Amino acid sequence: MSRYWSTLVHGLTPYVPGEQPKLANLVKLNTNENPYGPSPKALEAMRAEVGDSLRLYPDPNADRLKAAVAACHGVQPAQVFVGNGSDEVLAHTFQALLKHEKPLLFPDITYSFYPVYCGLYGVDYRTVPLTENFEICVDDYMQPNGGIIFPNPNAPTGCPLPLAEIERLLEANADSVVVIDEAYIDFGGESAVALVDRYPQLLVIHTLSKSRSLAGLRVGYAIGHADLIDALNRVKDSFNSYPLDRFAIAGAAAAMEDRAYFDETCLKVVATRSRLVGELETLGFEVLPSAANFIFARHALHGGAELTAKLRERSIIVRHFKNPARIAPFMRITVGTDEQCEVLISALKEILATPV
Ligand SMILES: *Cc1c(COP(=O)(O)O)cnc(C)c1O
Repeated sequence: MSRYWSTLVHGLTPYVPGEQPKLANLVKLNTNENPYGPSPKALEAMRAEVGDSLRLYPDPNADRLKAAVAACHGVQPAQVFVGNGSDEVLAHTFQALLKHEKPLLFPDITYSFYPVYCGLYGVDYRTVPLTENFEICVDDYMQPNGGIIFPNPNAPTGCPLPLAEIERLLEANADSVVVIDEAYIDFGGESAVALVDRYPQLLVIHTLSKSRSLAGLRVGYAIGHADLIDALNRVKDSFNSYPLDRFAIAGAAAAMEDRAYFDETCLKVVATRSRLVGELETLGFEVLPSAANFIFARHALHGGAELTAKLRERSIIVRHFKNPARIAPFMRITVGTDEQCEVLISALKEILATPV
């Protein structure tokens, strides 16, 4: 009964996540999940949490997890904020740090949750077009702004921005917060965490959903100057004191500590990505340079919607974005296992060989 809705709710345009089909035997390459399971040590740590202690609230500050994140990145725990998925960390960031008089800047082609948070929190924003090659050009962000946010590598293009370019932006932009959403950084980019001690306006956001294969656990974190972290804590403690449950704190901390498993699985994804790119190029696809666990590819003769639908008939799910029109020719394909990518390639060979 929408007459009971607030004006705010009437005006919202919610984010639409990639589908999670409830069918078996799909080759699911649509939401950038990691094809390798979480660290066995993370699973063990979560199993150990099943017990009587669940009657008690978890640590509201998740100190054990903050310590693990801080150790992993060589920063202080006071420079770390943790939340229920990086989407929640992002949401608090929009409210705490990016809502100002001047507009927030982000690319015209990027993570589509950003405009949704602007709608929810009443943040004024302006989009900055990617270049012809679908790249971020930092000079385009050197204009009056209330904040800047983009993913590196960008989504859904997968294109990385060199750290020197981010530093050039930080040098030119001292008066508002610059947020780098590094959801995919572990698959090849250069992390801006290296710059947080030198730039108090820099906030770097990570997730355990992709490179640590814990999308189902919902854990993300931000690293930045303690003053920025304080702002996020003020919003969090005005919203939900316990965003991370006991399983999330234990499992995420163990995952951060299992460096060997993390390195091994990231390398496997990167190796499969380069094979996949090679095979797609042989089939006549143009693939944007990717430093992520997905690739963005278009075919000269077949549209993105058409190919996505034909793959779906063969139980292979990839992601297609109709808007903006500039990216409609592309498919975004998550890098799966070698076997999954082979299934995809043989299906594409069949589809491309069939006369229209
Ligand atoms: C997947 C993704 C996130 C969200 O990650 P969660 O931690 O699962 O909420 C944030 N930003 C970008 C660019 C992503 O692709």
